[in-house]
Amino acid sequence: MNHQVGRRLRVAIAGFKLESVTFLPNLTTLTDFQAAECSGATLIDGHRGANTPVGGFIAVCEREGVEMVPIVYTEVGAAGPASDEAFDHYLGRFLAGLKDVDVDGVLLDLHGAMTTPTRMDAEADIFAAVRRQVGAQTRIMAALDYHANLDESTLLKADAVFGYHFSPHIDQAETGARAAECMVRTLRGEIDPVWAIVKPGLMVPSIFSATSLEPLAGLVQDSIRRARDCASYLDVSVFAGFSYADVPSCGFSVLAVTDGDRELARETATELSETIRASRAAFSHTELLHGIPDGIAEAVRIAEHNDRPVVLLEHADRMGDSTYLLREVVARQLGRTAVPFLWDPQAASIAAAAGVGAQVRLSVGGHSSERAGGAVTIEGKVVFAGPKSYHVTGPYYTGRLANLGNTVVIDAGFLVLSITSRQFVAVDEDCFTQFGMRASDFDFIVLRSKTHFRAAYESLAAAIVIIDTPDWGPADLTTLNYVHVARDRTYPFSDAA
Ligand SMILES: [Zn+2]
Repeated sequence: MNHQVGRRLRVAIAGFKLESVTFLPNLTTLTDFQAAECSGATLIDGHRGANTPVGGFIAVCEREGVEMVPIVYTEVGAAGPASDEAFDHYLGRFLAGLKDVDVDGVLLDLHGAMTTPTRMDAEADIFAAVRRQVGAQTRIMAALDYHANLDESTLLKADAVFGYHFSPHIDQAETGARAAECMVRTLRGEIDPVWAIVKPGLMVPSIFSATSLEPLAGLVQDSIRRARDCASYLDVSVFAGFSYADVPSCGFSVLAVTDGDRELARETATELSETIRASRAAFSHTELLHGIPDGIAEAVRIAEHNDRPVVLLEHADRMGDSTYLLREVVARQLGRTAVPFLWDPQAASIAAAAGVGAQVRLSVGGHSSERAGGAVTIEGKVVFAGPKSYHVTGPYYTGRLANLGNTVVIDAGFLVLSITSRQFVAVDEDCFTQFGMRASDFDFIVLRSKTHFRAAYESLAAAIVIIDTPDWGPADLTTLNYVHVARDRTYPFSDAA
């Protein structure tokens, strides 16, 4: 701080995001993060106008005449824990970027559910290290994912944090803007943020974290309404947590930020947390779940009376390569079926080498863990092969660069399968339109997203049939072997208050 009078406000921007599935056997490596890295001017140009928190930081800073100091940004979606090497590397980059720059504030884009083999709360360590670097006077604020696992200790060194309101995360840029606006108002001396966080002791599987489902829909609206109707500054975030990270802070939390009013922050977070706690049983929607045979039968029944495709949702997949539904599709040949963005670099490379027009026989998918369903053999014609990247056009992550790596599309008649070398979850119609197809070309579409696909497919699809396969993201959390979760005070493991 201590900037000269008259100089423009200056804010550093950095991001490092991963949703750690601690049950997965493989780590997310430095190489994985480096493939998605941007820094300097590229960071700003790559996110300007995008539905990302950094996109929101940029919009507010440019509107308010705040000078931005871009440091580094990288992100992998949901995957195994970050390697300690990757963590040390990016935290080191943050600290090096903040060294010797005279900034008034630091805006961070973090997930909130990152772990490493030696850290169960990686974000707490990031906040603490950044605080040590910039000192007590510089403001540190962050945008966090709605699926962040938080408690007070995570956020001790942050001035304020802001979570997405919705899942699908259609409001990422808006969340970044909430953080940046709070930062600018704070630096101008208009407000002095304080926060409170309260945990209701509840975990939900990601499939039931969609904010279109009750009671979440009403709770989220309530949190937004409270902030909007408050006479003084108030921002409220409801975090659903990420249940596939076995950490002590796993599960819901409610966080309120106010202008110096600790009482209001505490009261707001407590009231919402108590409502969540009281509704705990209603978060589970087992009536929406199907097993494999009855789910497929249901989808076939719906398809008979509809022109639009039926989504078969393999929601328990965590790495993009589960094959439970692909195996059924190949065995039963239900109708024209699309399986977009199966992650299998080796199969993609074999088919790409055969080239467009070649007839190939491939063993695909099911390799990421023993729960991924095992490889399935398919035969078909290669109709696309090569490196593929594009800017997302769908409502989730609009404008963001999607880099699929070496990609192939195989047409087997009853089945059109796209295979990517980099993990990328199909959530919108880009998985078809980028290859000259439409969702409406198909009777059935196999997707793996938990909630984000709803932003596009609730209107594209005749129905969404959720099929609970035995992978690492099951709807029944009690089937997972949690060691660090506080089971004795967390629903559904315990009903004790
Ligand atoms: Zn999320």
